[in-house]
Amino acid sequence: MSLVDIKSQSDLETGFPTEKSLIEELMKLKIVESEKICSKCGRGMELRTRKDGYQWRCRKTSGKECSTKTVKDGSWFSKVAMPLRQALKIMICWKMKMTGRQIESLLKVSHVTIADWRSMLREMCSLMVCNNPPLGGLGKEVEVDETLIHTRKYGCGAIRSEPVWVLGNDGLRVDTNCVEGYWRRKKKPIKTDNGTTNTMLPSYIGKSIAREWHGDEFWAMLLKCLEIKK
Ligand SMILES: [Zn+2]
Repeated sequence: MSLVDIKSQSDLETGFPTEKSLIEELMKLKIVESEKICSKCGRGMELRTRKDGYQWRCRKTSGKECSTKTVKDGSWFSKVAMPLRQALKIMICWKMKMTGRQIESLLKVSHVTIADWRSMLREMCSLMVCNNPPLGGLGKEVEVDETLIHTRKYGCGAIRSEPVWVLGNDGLRVDTNCVEGYWRRKKKPIKTDNGTTNTMLPSYIGKSIAREWHGDEFWAMLLKCLEIKK
């Protein structure tokens, strides 16, 4: 089984029962590094078994350690304090569209942790949309039409002096007039989400677009976003 194909928590447990098997899969998908250079001396580091997982180590000829790094180092997960498995569980819950509260009680994690995670994942979706713009290209103002919202029912209304929403940092701008219908459909779930503020809206829109856009491929696209860019 590949991590790309997993559908639930139990798939994760069945497919990758040990920490080592999970790390090896993440290496295969280029989500964590599979080789590493010592930042102190420039030599290749070795992967050693540590507890039930792995750790990178550079050992000087004298037998003394030069440096060590976690397997998360250099990956998207380097900023995440929790173990990789727990992090992936949160992502799986999120892709299954569980609410924050459901994730909290299932995985026994704090409200704050889940709120942070959901925000990080929404950001990632915004980037996903920005990196794969449906129309126009980066830095261009794009009109979102039925290719994105699947219906002409709401269409593009009369031009109004509303601000544009900016998805991510790359300047893919979506005209609010055109996403009006889309927005109307998305408004309810967004409003009922805890503590949404206006500044968070772009990432919510990014998430909604990415989910609809990629459909069943959403999870695979998400994992693709975690790939180490070299
Ligand atoms: Zn070294």
